[in-house]
This record gives sequence, C-alpha cells and structure tokens, in this order.
Amino acid sequence: MKIVKIQVLRGPNIWSIRRKKLIQMRLDLEEVEHLPTNKIEGFRENLERLLPSLISHRCSEGVEGGFFQRVEMGTWMGHVIEHIALEIQTLAGMDAGFGRTRETKTPGIYNVVFSYIEENSGIYAAEQSVEIAHALMEGRDYPIQECIQTLKEKRERERLGPSTGSIVQEAVARNIPWIRLGRNSLVQLGYGVNQQRFQATITGKTSSIAVDIACNKELTKKMLEEAAIPVPSGDLVSDEEGLERVIQKIGYPIVLKPLDGNHGKGASINVKDWETAKDGLVHAQNYGNRVIVERYITGYDFRVLVINHKMVAAARRVPAHIVGDGEKNIQELIDKENLDPRRGYGHENVLTEISVDKDTNELLEKLHYTLHSIPKKGEIVYLKSTANLSTGGTSIDVTDMIHPENITMCERISKIIGLDVCGVDIMAENLTQPLKESGGAILEVNAAPGFRMHLAPSEGLPRNVAAPVVDMLYPQGKAFRIPIIAVTGTNGKTTTTRLIAHIVKNNGYRVGFTTSDGIYIQNTMLTKGDTTGPLSAEFVLKDPTVEFAVLETARGGILRSGLGFSYCDIGVLTNIKEDHLGISDIHNLKDLTKVKRVVLDSVKKDGWSVLNADDAYSMRLMPDLDSKIAIFSLDENNPHIKKFAKEGKITCVYEEGFVTIKKGDWKIRIAKANNIPITMEGKAKFMISNVLAASLATYLYGFEIEDIANSLRTFIPSAALTPGRLNIFKFKKFNVLIDFAHNPAGYEAIEDYLKNVEATKKIGIISGVGDRRDEDITECGKIAGRMFDYIIIRNEKHLRGRAEEEINGLIISGIQESGRDVSYEIIPKEIEALKHAMSMAEEGTFITALSDVVSNAIDLVQEYQNKEILEEGK
Ligand code: ATP
Ligand code: ATP
Ligand code: MG
Ligand code: MG
Repeated sequence: MKIVKIQVLRGPNIWSIRRKKLIQMRLDLEEVEHLPTNKIEGFRENLERLLPSLISHRCSEGVEGGFFQRVEMGTWMGHVIEHIALEIQTLAGMDAGFGRTRETKTPGIYNVVFSYIEENSGIYAAEQSVEIAHALMEGRDYPIQECIQTLKEKRERERLGPSTGSIVQEAVARNIPWIRLGRNSLVQLGYGVNQQRFQATITGKTSSIAVDIACNKELTKKMLEEAAIPVPSGDLVSDEEGLERVIQKIGYPIVLKPLDGNHGKGASINVKDWETAKDGLVHAQNYGNRVIVERYITGYDFRVLVINHKMVAAARRVPAHIVGDGEKNIQELIDKENLDPRRGYGHENVLTEISVDKDTNELLEKLHYTLHSIPKKGEIVYLKSTANLSTGGTSIDVTDMIHPENITMCERISKIIGLDVCGVDIMAENLTQPLKESGGAILEVNAAPGFRMHLAPSEGLPRNVAAPVVDMLYPQGKAFRIPIIAVTGTNGKTTTTRLIAHIVKNNGYRVGFTTSDGIYIQNTMLTKGDTTGPLSAEFVLKDPTVEFAVLETARGGILRSGLGFSYCDIGVLTNIKEDHLGISDIHNLKDLTKVKRVVLDSVKKDGWSVLNADDAYSMRLMPDLDSKIAIFSLDENNPHIKKFAKEGKITCVYEEGFVTIKKGDWKIRIAKANNIPITMEGKAKFMISNVLAASLATYLYGFEIEDIANSLRTFIPSAALTPGRLNIFKFKKFNVLIDFAHNPAGYEAIEDYLKNVEATKKIGIISGVGDRRDEDITECGKIAGRMFDYIIIRNEKHLRGRAEEEINGLIISGIQESGRDVSYEIIPKEIEALKHAMSMAEEGTFITALSDVVSNAIDLVQEYQNKEILEEGK
C-alpha cells in the first residue's frame, strides 16, 4: 500500500460545498486491494486495541460500534484508513467528522477524503493512518500516544490563538468570509474594499498612538491620574538616590518594576525594607535603566475588558498556584494539579498545564523552598509571578458583579488612552465597590488584551467577547463582501469573463478579474499566467481597492484545492465539452459536469446560475441546482428557452440578428450582433454565445440594458485586449487569424466561423495537445480536414508526455477521416509553420493559426504587417 498524492482542499470542492477543509489522499492499495479486513488475521482485534474510541464511529450501520461491525464483516482498507485519520485527529483535540472513500477508475487506486481542522495536522494524520493500517495488518505495535502528541504539537504551531480564533469563529457565524494573511495571526475579514483586518485583539482601527501610550506605564498613570482615576502613587527612578526620595514620599510597602516591562518580568512586589528595595532596583534595571517605584496595593488582580468603549467583561485572575496538604511536596502537588482534565496542552483547553520554569524557581527560592519542599496544609504557594492564563493561571468571571461607577471609570479609561480593544488591570479587594471606597487602583492598561480568560473562565459565566469586536468592525448594515461573478465551462471562460468585467467596469465599479491570461485590476494586468485557481481568486478578494470580482474559475484549480471563495452571487457555465478528459480521474462529460457544477453549487440561494440552453450536459444539471436559474441560447426556438418563456422566466437569446433578453415572452433587445465587434459582424457564433452569457449575467446582477449595450459595443477584440481570441490580421493579399482553439468544441467554433469567411484558399496550422485523449486529438484533426484546404501540423511547446510522432499520427488519421482530400505537411516549430504559411499565401488566402504560444505568434504576424506597411511607403 502506498500514498500516491496528498492534496489539501480549502474551499468548496467536488466532495462537498459546505465542508471546505478536506484532505484528499490518493492511495494505491497494491497487494491489499484483494484483502478486505475480514481476510486479515486479527485485524479487528488489533484495531480495537489500538483505537478503542473508534467504537463511537457509527458508519453506515448507524449504531455505536457500527464501524467495528463493518470491519468484522469485511471492508476495504481505504475506508479503514479514513476512519483512523478522523479518529486520531479527534483524539488530538481536533474534532473532524466527515469522510468519503471512493475507488477511482484505475483499479486499486482510491481517493480517501476526510476533514481536517489544521492543515499540517491533517496531512500528518493522512500519512500516519496509512502507517497505522500497515502496523495493524502485520500485528506490529504502533506508538499511538506519540502520534497524538505530534498531532497536538503541529496543531498548536499552526492554529490561530484563542483570541484570534474566537473572532474568526464569530465572523464565520455571521457568514463573514475570512482569509489568513501570512502564517501568524493576521486575519482579513470580508473582501476587497469591504475588508477589515485584525491581529489577535489589535484591529485595523486600533490607534497606534494609543498602543504607544498604553505601553508606557508611567505616561499612562500620569494621564489617568490627571483624569482623577486612582493609580498607585510613585515615580520613576534610575538610581538609589531617587529610590530613597520616592520611598520617603510614599512609604513602604512598595513595588518596583521596569518602565515598559511585561509578563511581570523584573518586578519586585510588596517590598518592605531598604535592602530588598535596593535589590529590586538592580533586578528591574536588568530590563532598562528607568524603573517604576510605586505603592503596593493590596487585593486581587482584576482585568476589565472594554471594547469600542463599552465594558464587556471582567475577570479576577489568579496566578498558577498549588495548595499544600501537609503531605505531598511541591512537584507532586503540581503533577496532581496538572491531572485536572481542564488543563491541556497549549491552548487546547480552558486552562494550561503548569510547567516549572525560571520564574517558578525564583519564586520558590524567595520562599526558601525547592520542588521537594512540603508546604503546610492549606498554604498557598504561587508558582508564577503573573496571573497570565498561558502560564497556568486561572480566572473567575466577575462581569455581573462590577459596580456601575467602576464600569464608567473603565470606559472612560479606554477613551482617555484611545484604545478600541482595551484591557484595564486593576488591583483591588473587589470590584463590587467603587475603587475610591475599596482603595483599589489601576495598575496598567493593556493593548491587545487576551480573550481566553473571558471566553473560558475557570469559574463563572463564559462571555462571547468576540462578538463586540465584530460588531465594531461591521456594525449592522455594513457590507463585508463584494459581488462575485464566477465563470466556468470548457470554452469561452476567458472571453466571457473579460466581457463581464468590461460591463462591470463601465458601470463605475472598480473591477478585479482573473483569467487564464493573468490577473487584472481595472485595465492593468498585475500577474501574467494561468490564474484561474483559488489563489488568484484570493488575490482579487484581498485587494483593498476592488469593488467587484469576476473570476474565471477553471477545472484545474477546483480539483487541486477547491474554490477560493465560499460562495458567489452569480455563476456562469459556458458549456461542458470534451477537453481534459482522462486527466485527474475525469473520464467523461458526466465526470466533468461534477467538477464544473461546484461553481454553480457555490452560488448563494438567492443568486443566479446562468446556463447554456444549447449545451446538453448543462441542461441536465438544472434540477439539481439550489440557486435561481436563467438560460441563454443562440436559438429562440430552443425547447428549454420556450419552456422558460412559458413559465415567465428570464432568458437571453439571439434572434433576428439581435442579442435579446426575454422576460416570459417579452423581448428587450440589447444590441444588434453586427454592432458588437467581438462577434465579427455576427459571423462568429461562439462569440455571440459568450455575449449572451455575459449580457444575461450582468442583466441579472441589475445593470441597465443601455449600459450593457454600450459596453458590448465598445469591447473591441484585438491582439492587445483579447490575445488569441479570434484575432484577425489583415495583409494586402491575405489574412491571418490567430486563435487559441485547442479542443473539438473550439475547433467546431472556428469551423462555424470559417463558413462565413470568403477565401480562395484556407490554410490551417494545427497541433494535438499531448495529455488529451486519443479520440479528442483525432476529432480535432477531422474537423481541421473539413474546414481547411491545406494543413500544416506543428507541435506544442510542451508535449505533455507523448511523442511527436504519436500525436501527429492521431491528427493525420483524423484528417483522413474527414473524407476530404486535404494535403498536409509537418513543421514542428510554431513560428516556422506560420512563416511558411505566410510565404505560400496567395491572393485571397485565409490562414488560420490555432496557436499555442499566442504572444509569439502575434508578435511575428505584427512584425510582418509592419514590414508590409514600410515597404508600401517606399
Ligand atoms: P503583565 O504583562 O502580566 O500584565 P506587567 O509586566 O505588565 O505584567 P504589571 O501588570 O504592572 O506588569 O504587574 C504585574 C503584576 O504585579 C500585577 O498583575 C500585580 O499582581 C502585581 N503588581 C504590579 N504593581 C502592583 C502594585 N502597585 N501593587 C500591587 N501589586 C502590583
Ligand atoms: P481556457 O480553458 O484555455 O482558459 P477559455 O474557456 O477561457 O479557455 P477562451 O479563452 O475564452 O476560453 O476561448 C478559447 C478558445 O475557445 C477561443 O479562442 C475559441 O476558439 C474557443 N471558444 C471561445 N468561446 C467559445 C464558445 N462559447 N464555444 C466554443 N468555443 C469557444
Ligand atoms: Mg499587567
Ligand atoms: Mg481561459
């Protein structure tokens, strides 16, 4: 058994629209193909021993233990591996529950698909589940605990921290999309111009100056003091003289801490004599020359969280500690405390495990204790100097107990410092009395306060403190998405995408669009290349200037990692034709339909699917779609169009030379095809088809007929604007057409166009694409034989795994099948083939170059054109 490939899916995909995060593992069962689990000695017993918790997997039996029953009865190893991969993730604290295992058309090769929570853990689970299956078959031991620990470690390295995670979760609950920017906790909410960003609990709105103020404890204290808010009296010192002066003023006990320290580093608390004070000064000066000396306030540590200048939660924080029982030593008491099931690895649980570190040792030393000392019964020994949860501290929610005066005070503090997400640290006996009465004081104000103590306090009510953050970033009614039109299909995607983008742009939107030529914002190409996958979609959705996205969404990206967006407003399917068959387990048009429909399944419920009524496979999809449906056709009498009209629905048709929207039977004519340059005076039917798709999609979005018409009239096909899409170059004697057709449907489209072209001789330059099926290459040859009088066969730049002779052989047999006696020759290099065709052209010849590297072909032809113009001038 071996893993052929592991893919990480991150968006709506062929397995599921809703479950975006899936691992897809291609598995070659090899010898195990003939070994269902009931034929393997002791398999079920070994499995049950290693992973007893699999009992909870009901599987298709639908009862507890159902999966074990299936193993007993005999099931395939791929299926077992899927369940193992899910279970080990669950055991590592990542509740993953969705799985599918399907045989591919290649015998013995399976796709094992299962959900993951964190990508790298998912990949690791895939690899280990195969390892585990091997061990179980061979009756070997497998170190399951180590595997689960590794999964946890990978999870911690990858996953968002608890504060960031809670905000993302709240956003998701509101259907707000999010994108992680980089590897850390910087997150984008929303799309394009409507995006907001945050990192942990710093938002895009957090004022930088406010953070600076909060980080300077002395300045903060001064500003608060001037606003009549109680702070510990004291001053900054940098030497013993200064220290003495301050102590004379405020008296003991005191606290010494570095001016801009954190996590309690360098702090000496409750200092009562001169010797200790001097030591404290030295200690604090390890972190900076200037040291805060202030009165020691008695009481407890409280944290009040203020978001958007409203108090949202308050907690009392207790540093990690143990309570003596007069018997166990400190280490034993720590171990006992760590057994608390709420304490887990990293951030996985409500509480964090207590570890012994330098801080702990220093604290114990001060008490003249070691880890082996046995504290008295009831004695509290603090193990950390600060109450941070991440070092094992605990928290108690006290939100409902805080006095209104204290609430007002904290809200004022957040305004005074200017922090939108603000953590106020208070030392006081309680918060139920106003600080003035309790004698408490504000110790400091924190930017980026952690949320975990409020989200999951160890005692008291958990508070959803993420909600007010999202409320602040997206107040009611504020948009978080931008409109998305996604275009898929076998042919015409790029052209339709460009047309739609052109219409959108002319309606005053700043449009970002992706195509197989590159990514554009407005008229500027920002990256070149085949950019029709999820990362390119994300590129556009991340751009803070983009108001509207039009996304060419091709098969490759969907299969590789799913869509780059969770849903779209309008999905356009141009057609489903033979291309790319035999690749990635897609063997026929039905398989291909499953891939393309992912785009339509991602259309929101009240959005539109735009389908081609002239395309049989598209029409078969209709009953399965959840969105609203509108269709287009080159033929007004197409039966589907007639049915739609009868039902009063919206369609778009080509009739009497017009591109026309129909609502029921009412016609709204947009424009005459003759006036739409991309249709080549109406001669290129397939371009009319693309125009229908684009017109219908934009009409459904809500654009005015007039605006659509104007845009169609100003979309000028040219080598610059639409390279390789029906570009015609006129010479004195002959014409050259450069087009990107590369599959039977594309060839037929060209054939249809050429019927309308008058020429004395039609020369074609064609080639076969190596990774396509034999029959598709032959079919292209056959169509070429029908439409050309003379053919030059060239080769593609990339042969994609086949020999030249083999591809050419298929093309030639196709030409012969056409039944016409067409002569041909072979010139491997595209440029040479083109030069040759132009040199043999006579008066009235029409050369059609079905091109591979379009830009090179265009450059050459333009160079020849320029030469001709120059010569004419002489
Ligand atoms: P953190 O990053 O954990 O918030 P920090 O380095 O910013 O810590 P402070 O918050 O100023 O430092 O102090 C850490 C802890 O020391 C406080 O939570 C409190 O328990 C104690 N402490 C600080 N100043 C005083 C004081 N004036 N009176 C009593 N205790 C104090
Ligand atoms: P790709 O999959 O290579 O990105 P695409 O779907 O983006 O292709 P376009 O780039 O718009 O398609 O067009 C490529 C070629 O396909 C055109 O040059 C033309 O030959 C043919 N074609 C375009 N539109 C259609 C259509 N509606 N029906 C059939 N063929 C078409
Ligand atoms: Mg603090
Ligand atoms: Mg394309």
